[in-house]
Amino acid sequence: MKDYIEVDEWKIIEEGFNPHHNKISESIFSLGNGRMGQRANFEEAYSGETLQGNYIAGVYYPDKTRVGWWKNGYPEYFAKVLNAANWVGIDILIDGEQLDLAKCTVSKFRRELNMKDGYLKRNFSATTASGKIIEVEAIRFCSIAEDESGAIKYTITPQNFSGLLTITPFIDGDVVNKDSNYDEKFWDEVKKETWATGGYLQMRTKKTGFEVATGMEISFVQNDEVISPVLKPVEKEKYIAAQTEVQVKEGQSTTIIKYAANLSSQNYDAAQLAVKVKETLSRISKKGFEALLAEQAEAWAAKWKLNDIIIEGDASAQQAIRFNIFQLNQTYTGEDDRLNIGPKGFTGEKYGGSTYWDTEAYCVPFYLSTADQKVTRNLLLYRYKQLGKAIDNAKMLGFKNGAALYPMVTMDGTECHNEWEITFEEIHRNGAIAYAIFNYVRYTADEAYLADYGLEVLIAISRFWSQRVNWSADKQQYVMLGVTGPNEYENNINNNWYTSTLATWCMKYTKEVIEKVKAAEPEKYAALASKISFNEAEETAKFSHIIENMYYPYDAQQQVFLQQDGYLDKEQILVKDLPAEDRPINQKWSWDRILRSCYIKQADVLQGIYFFEDDYDLDTIRRNFDFYEPRTVHESSLSPCVHSILAAKLGDEARAYEFYLRTARLDLDDYNNDTEDGCHITSMAGTWMAVVEGFGGMRVRDGKLSFKPFLPGKWSSFSFHINFRGSVFNIKVSKGGVQIKNLSGIETTVLVYDKEQLVKANDELLVEA
Ligand code: BGC
Repeated sequence: MKDYIEVDEWKIIEEGFNPHHNKISESIFSLGNGRMGQRANFEEAYSGETLQGNYIAGVYYPDKTRVGWWKNGYPEYFAKVLNAANWVGIDILIDGEQLDLAKCTVSKFRRELNMKDGYLKRNFSATTASGKIIEVEAIRFCSIAEDESGAIKYTITPQNFSGLLTITPFIDGDVVNKDSNYDEKFWDEVKKETWATGGYLQMRTKKTGFEVATGMEISFVQNDEVISPVLKPVEKEKYIAAQTEVQVKEGQSTTIIKYAANLSSQNYDAAQLAVKVKETLSRISKKGFEALLAEQAEAWAAKWKLNDIIIEGDASAQQAIRFNIFQLNQTYTGEDDRLNIGPKGFTGEKYGGSTYWDTEAYCVPFYLSTADQKVTRNLLLYRYKQLGKAIDNAKMLGFKNGAALYPMVTMDGTECHNEWEITFEEIHRNGAIAYAIFNYVRYTADEAYLADYGLEVLIAISRFWSQRVNWSADKQQYVMLGVTGPNEYENNINNNWYTSTLATWCMKYTKEVIEKVKAAEPEKYAALASKISFNEAEETAKFSHIIENMYYPYDAQQQVFLQQDGYLDKEQILVKDLPAEDRPINQKWSWDRILRSCYIKQADVLQGIYFFEDDYDLDTIRRNFDFYEPRTVHESSLSPCVHSILAAKLGDEARAYEFYLRTARLDLDDYNNDTEDGCHITSMAGTWMAVVEGFGGMRVRDGKLSFKPFLPGKWSSFSFHINFRGSVFNIKVSKGGVQIKNLSGIETTVLVYDKEQLVKANDELLVEA
């Protein structure tokens, strides 16, 4: 764990240059706008430790799988989010000496991520080997309003000399992925062009054939006046630059403004990219840096208005929750149903950019409450559009009749994961996709979604479950063999309680939705049934038989659901009794030892109880929580938030807060020593859930918002916004009670501590503590 990030309610601040923290800071200070993003790499050259990363959403490369022993059914490739052309680079020579912080004496270094207005600022003073001192201020952002664009303002001021600066803003397409399986470079050059003030470079990905044109337009300001030094175009393979020499005087500033645009063939005809990138550059450079920055602040203000959480009395918690919300908004804006939320977003390569069950299980609740409902609808449509591939995937594994198994990891619907115990066995992901449909509809009441798209997905998923179980003659019940639950520290287990519970729930929900759609949209239902050859009578009878006769492991003595058959045979030493030096076990123990142990990587039975809490009374929840929590090592960032929400439900406020702390500052404090690879974007949604569903006790009950809040002892108040069925509410929890403001024109009834309260349009009410 580190704690070098300064506490500030709206900013993430690093003071002083510590090269050992550079890769961590590159992740934390990342920028993005949903369509593109980047790590906080320096503009000038840097020969120290760095992970260079610029990413374009949805642009990936199918890197040939590398496994020791091939098994039938393995995917041929793992789709990697691609490190794309570097557009931030500005090489600086000071009287011929390269500016490189690894070779200079650095002082006054400060990096600041302004979350309110959405930009990154860096200041430093550097003394070169020959003793020349310069001060630099660099500001940059990825524009939300112009989401194919970014801009940089880089100001250099000589402190103790007058001399010559050689300035080379460039675009470099000769980049690599650190996680490339065969050290291959994934981009080929298509074309490039340079002109008096800029240029562009168009690259094409190997195999997938995405084309991206990355362009730049450069302008200069000296002593507050625009200057037009002659720029010498430089063209090399996969590289363009515009080089100039500028005479500078001691104490006088020179500013380079670099406008950049990234346009991809996902959105334009590849042949048109050159024209379009020039149009974009011309438009944004005409607007000018300050206007773009003002637009950026406005766009962020609109986002914060809908999704800020304000915590009073704890600046560190305030900074942390805003950081989580900021990063989620940088990663996904919901404009495009071909895009999704990668576990590392635009902050790194590992897991980067691909879609996991994290989206449905963790991110959907966040976007449902903090954004327009079309954002979540787009996330659901993403899976709907990939249904065909999920059916092909199941078919390849031997399933029939339109059964679908969605991939564990994907970019375009094709499975990319290639460890058999996960690819073939971690099938609970299918259930999370069905659960997200249920969650979306219960939240938005958009029942039309079910007839148009949802039911087709639900039937395909239920068909899978109905074939994945088998009848046990011994038990005279259905069983589900050879699975991996969310707890990946157990593989190839039989009857994982969570997966089996989710499977039967899916079939029940599918049956319910069939009835609903049949009644509301009989023609659409008939058309769907015929399109997918759905034999309703026979297939739903099979679903019902499984629902009624499913086997779930249970321990009658302790009255807890068992994670899987045989779980109690394991040696039951609690996590608190593990020597500190053995943790984290995934770094200290052999895989074999982990598999035989009772330790749980992340919420598993408890994930099921969280999803289906209304099915269990408080005593059942408490017994299971008290049994599983002491065995859970939380070695996935997705875990503590579920425990936090359940602890809050059980009234264990201290523990709810303790679990929350583990997620909230996970990346800011580099809790797991892995932030340098990228931030844990999807678990950030879990942090939001811990505040809103945990401390705020928010649920949707019978179409109404319901709150059962408590105030963590350290805080004097907290408040959050909820966007619900066209109305926006602000909920403030303080020592005085719960204040609910209805910021919209619709009168609404909400439940506070189970009592109905009418909140008039544009009015507020206080439920006293
Ligand atoms: C977790 C999975 C998760 C993945 C990506 C793994 O460590 O066990 O549940 O989907 O990370 O976040």
